Amino acid sequence: MKLNEYQEEASRTAIFPNELPDFLDVGQVYTVLGQSGESGEIQEKLKKAIREDEEQYVEDMRDEVGDVLWYLSQVCEEFDWDMGEIAEDNLDKLQDRQKRGQLTGEGDDR
Ligand SMILES: [Mg+2]
Repeated sequence: MKLNEYQEEASRTAIFPNELPDFLDVGQVYTVLGQSGESGEIQEKLKKAIREDEEQYVEDMRDEVGDVLWYLSQVCEEFDWDMGEIAEDNLDKLQDRQKRGQLTGEGDDR
């Protein structure tokens, strides 16, 4: 198959809105996309560490973790969420799963 044929066929399955829902704004979308991009940079550094057999890339991951943290803080800011509360809720969830022997496995509703 030629790539232009694939592109045309794929376009027939592409269903998405042309604008943001009213409950989202540009800052919310921008920060979530930024966080995702920075997460990809962590993965890229790890990939380079493997490919180049170079420990420096692992050390560079630390900077990218900081970038992710910054974007996460701004995601919370944009959605008016308290990072400390989210951290506490997350630990509560995980500790509850641990007590019930559900740390391993899959699914959000364990
Ligand atoms: Mg970065």
